[in-house]
Amino acid sequence: MRKLLTLSLVIVAVTLFSGQTKQESQKEFVMDKVEKSDQEWETCLTPEEYQILRENGTELAFTGEYYKHKEKGTYVCAGCGNDLFSSDTKYDSGSGWPAFFDALDKTKVNTKSDISYGMVRTEITCAKCDSHLGHVFKDGPKPTGLRYCVNSVALDFSPKK
Ligand SMILES: [Zn+2]
Repeated sequence: MRKLLTLSLVIVAVTLFSGQTKQESQKEFVMDKVEKSDQEWETCLTPEEYQILRENGTELAFTGEYYKHKEKGTYVCAGCGNDLFSSDTKYDSGSGWPAFFDALDKTKVNTKSDISYGMVRTEITCAKCDSHLGHVFKDGPKPTGLRYCVNSVALDFSPKK
């Protein structure tokens, strides 16, 4: 009888333990938001990065570091390092800004309606730190038909290893 009791205790313990592990791995999946005050952003970004990422600025066309960039790798958010776009989806849209026909993962890039400057556009922001990246348009190539038009300043590049 005592043996049986020990055994059932072990089973309960194992069940509890595995339940806990499952919960923890689910927690890891939820994206950790990066939240900073304007002042904190000002100290960790260059003035140019701050103007584009935090004040919805746009760099001049054909001037950006990654407009003609063709290396294989991942483009990450300049504000927080979140993986955003793969070089596999980059193409030359002729617009003067880096263009991608898809995001690396839909959960990493947020979209919202932008009606500034008398235009109706869809703004794209980093899902992790809410930094402004650029806009997404519906005149992209197949298979998505989308054109994620992104400021080079909003991106950092991590070459494929
Ligand atoms: Zn970010």
